Parts: sequence; C-alpha cells; structure tokens
Amino acid sequence: MVQCQRAPPTRLSSSVDPRRPLSQAWCPAVRPAIIWMEKVITMHWQQPIPKSYLQMPSQELFARIARRKEQLGRKLVILGHHYQQDDVIQFADFIGDSFALSRQAAGLSDAQYVIFCGVHFMAESADVLTAPHQQVILPDLGAGCSMADMAALDDVEDAFAALEQANSADPDFRLVPITYVNSSAAVKSFVGQHGGAVCTSSNCEKILSWALDGQKPGAPPHTKIIFFPDQHLGRNTGWKMGFSLESMVLWDYRKPAGGLSEQQLRDATFILWKGHCSVHQLFRPEHVEQARQRLPGVKVLVHPECSWEVVRKADLVGSTEFIRQQVAAAAPGDKWAIGTEVHMVNRLARQHPEQTIIVLSECQCLCTTMYRIDPAHLLWVLDHLVAGEVVNQIKVDPFDAYWSRVSLQRMLDITAGRPLQEPPQPPPEHTTTAVALPALV
Ligand code: SF4
Repeated sequence: MVQCQRAPPTRLSSSVDPRRPLSQAWCPAVRPAIIWMEKVITMHWQQPIPKSYLQMPSQELFARIARRKEQLGRKLVILGHHYQQDDVIQFADFIGDSFALSRQAAGLSDAQYVIFCGVHFMAESADVLTAPHQQVILPDLGAGCSMADMAALDDVEDAFAALEQANSADPDFRLVPITYVNSSAAVKSFVGQHGGAVCTSSNCEKILSWALDGQKPGAPPHTKIIFFPDQHLGRNTGWKMGFSLESMVLWDYRKPAGGLSEQQLRDATFILWKGHCSVHQLFRPEHVEQARQRLPGVKVLVHPECSWEVVRKADLVGSTEFIRQQVAAAAPGDKWAIGTEVHMVNRLARQHPEQTIIVLSECQCLCTTMYRIDPAHLLWVLDHLVAGEVVNQIKVDPFDAYWSRVSLQRMLDITAGRPLQEPPQPPPEHTTTAVALPALV
C-alpha cells in the first residue's frame, strides 16, 4: 500500500503557494489522477461563438473585419505568424515569427489592443513584452501549441530535481536550463529563476555555447544542459556543435525518472525533453529522397524542428526567417523543397513565381491549432472591442512575467555578445499587481 506523504488540503490557504499545482500536495497514489484533472482544468477552452459568425459568407466577413480595423485605428495592431492562413494574414499589420512580432507590438505604445493571430504561447510572450496598458488577445483560446504543451511546469520541476539529485556527488556539477521560445511563460519563468535562458531557432547555438561555458565535446560533462521542449532543435544544434548523439539523452516526462538511470543522467551533457512539433515531425528522410527524384536539382531547405535524420539529408537548415531569406535571395529558376508549415511554403511559392517551390512532403503539414484562428473568430473579437469589451485576453501573472523577461533578456544579451543585465527592481513575490518592467534591449 502506498503511504500518503501529506494530507490533501481541503482548501487553499494563504500559506499554500497558489502557483504550485495541487498534484504536488497529494499522495503518490492519486497524483496521476490529479495531474490529469489539473491539465483538463488548465486547458484553454474557447466558448462557442455565435453561429451567425460561422455562417457568414467570406466576403462579408472580410468587409466587416476591414471596417472594424478602420474604426479602431491606431488603438489596434494585428500580428500574424508566418504559419497563419491567408484569409487571416491579409489583415495583419505585421507578419513574422513569434518573438519578432511581440517586440514589434511592444514598440507600438498607441496600440492598446494587440490581436495575436498565432498560438497561446506567442500571445503570452506578447503580454510579457508589452506595456501594462496593452491588452493581448488570442481570437480562439483553443489555439495552443502541441509542442509547448508537452512541457508542463510540474514535470519540468521534477526533471530538474532528479538531475540535481543524480549529480549531487559531483562538486563541479552545473545544470543550466534552456528553453526554446515555443514554451509556456511558466517554463520560461522557471528557466529565468534557475540561471538559464530562452533561445530561438536562429540563436540556439550561441545560447548553448554560453550555457556550456567552454566545455568541449568529449570533455567530462560537469556542465549539463536540460533543454525544453523540442528534442529535435536541441539534438540538431548539439550535433552541429560537435557533440555526439551518445552525449545526449532523452527525458520522457511520461515515465518515472524520465525513463533514464542515474548513471545516464551523470554521463550525458544534453538532457533533451521528449517534445516535438507535430507539424515538423511529419517530414521523413524518405521525403528528401522523393523530392530529389521528383525535381532534379532541387535544394532541400528544412526547419531545425525536423528530426535529426531529415536535417542530415537536407541541403540547408534554418529558422522561418532563414528560410524566407534564402528564397528571397535565390535566382529565377531555382527549385526548393521546403520542410516547414504548409501555409508559409505556399505563400513563398505565390510570392516567387519565378522559382519552383514545393512542400517537402505531400502530407498535410499544417499547424492545426493555429488554423483555429479564422476570420469568424477575428471578427468576433473585433466586434467586442468596438463595443468596448475585451474578450479572450491573455494575461501572464506578474511573477512569471518578471522571470520570463529575465530569461528573454539573457537571450538577447548573449546573442548580442554583451554582459548579462538583470532588471533593476527585485522580483515581485506572488503578487497579482502588474509590474512595469523596462523594455528589453
Ligand atoms: S508549427 Fe509546431 S511548434 Fe509551431 S505552433 Fe504549430 S505545433 Fe507549435
């Protein structure tokens, strides 16, 4: 029989940390059920919007959205991620990747309302980076990111503690958490609190080099990196830096102790979280061979969220911005097979009819959650804004906002090659009052 460690609380008292999941306080026998319950409760549900929006003809939706945009003027900015569908992207004031878009919104202080046509973690980042008077809105709360959702804070805390425990006999042990920007604000905050940094797909190598602090491939792994949530970006970058696959282990958050022995945790340099992007994982090594047969002379260009096997076979690998730049700089007649989300690839093909551009695979490589943001939901939030009501606001609590900014500022400092700077005021305790923080530099 499993003994309960602590009695389950009957109510949340003021001494209970409100940020700690309830599952931490319950006995091991019922913990899995409580974790499941917490995940269900914290999932973001979108209330059904009125049928009139869903049944409205496209042209009428478009005309009404344009009119609402005009009415709101400079008070509104609409951000559109590269992977967004064209029916929505036509209304975006800015198009780009999540971090660049969030910084853009932060620079527009007139914009009281920031509508993020992306997914949940992107809207969180926008809320963290914008001023307190700016309200960030996600048109459909069901637009999550499967990758970000694979790294829940309580699982991250457990993994970190297990790694510290396994290496406690090593006096030179250092553990640096690094998270891809595609993660929740809670995970970015955890990373900030534990001396780590955020990375993007463009600066990942620089951030990992900083974390390793000179430790070379093959050297005793006193310094270790735990990398969230995308195993592929971590593996591809570590490999590019000269680290062997044997120096990397995969932490399976669904298994006790990550499915790894203490010896494996001591021997590894990289502990990669078992997360992936459901879109980029669809590309397979055989798709590269098939594309080369279909289009002789084609260059295969893939995102580093693709698997190591695909990246090894590709001609070029890089972020969405890198992909865009490669195509923009290419010559007429060039041929590309691109391994990233289908909306972005199709848009590039339309923008560059002088080149041949195809998706690497014929599978539906579509970000289905981002696809939930459609003109009907966009009009629905705009109608509410014009009526003076903010719906679907995404708000990060001040504690996590503070530490997320610390981890993001570290990323910017490391990328720029300058000393790390920490925000001037002390971190808020678990306060519910918004804290004005200096803009990221
Ligand atoms: S493409 Fe992948 S990583 Fe990007 S938002 Fe969609 S599921 Fe998340």
